[in-house]
Amino acid sequence: MADLLFDFSKFSKFSNLTDISSSQVEKEEGASICPQKVMNQISVIKTVITIKTKDDFMAPRSPSRPPILSTNWDQRYDCDTCKLYELDLDDDINEKTWTCKACDEPVLITMEDDEGQYLVRRIPANQLKKNDWIYDGNNLGRSVRINDSSKAQIKNGDWYLALKDIGKRFVESSRYYNRIV
Ligand SMILES: [Zn+2]
Repeated sequence: MADLLFDFSKFSKFSNLTDISSSQVEKEEGASICPQKVMNQISVIKTVITIKTKDDFMAPRSPSRPPILSTNWDQRYDCDTCKLYELDLDDDINEKTWTCKACDEPVLITMEDDEGQYLVRRIPANQLKKNDWIYDGNNLGRSVRINDSSKAQIKNGDWYLALKDIGKRFVESSRYYNRIV
């Protein structure tokens, strides 16, 4: 219990969690509620704090965290490897990797907004290559050339992208981008 309290005090920015924990512990000491229930509650809190800790404290400060790519403008999905067209997002596509379930190759995605149509494949940062073009996050109006793409030195698993006219970015290697076809 002392260890837990110590952990909480380290992460006092999560004031709501700290409040829950200390009030629950006080109740436990007064034996006014079931100790098992308290322990279950603390176990849940500890899990939440572990996740927060990993994301907010252990990861390097420099990686940028662009928003997850939106599917709002997606019009259709095709696999030119399998010659399968108008694939069904739920049935035919692995939505975690944006690949065709039949062949594991990235699907061709047709996107459309008021300005026009865009043909892309969704590719993680560590598969982007020099001279690839991507759209900058969800900004389909902004195409950006990749000047360099390599494993980052700052931490294993992180990825370095040099973007023309934008500059350096350290990103998660698994971060997906709309790569222009
Ligand atoms: Zn396929």
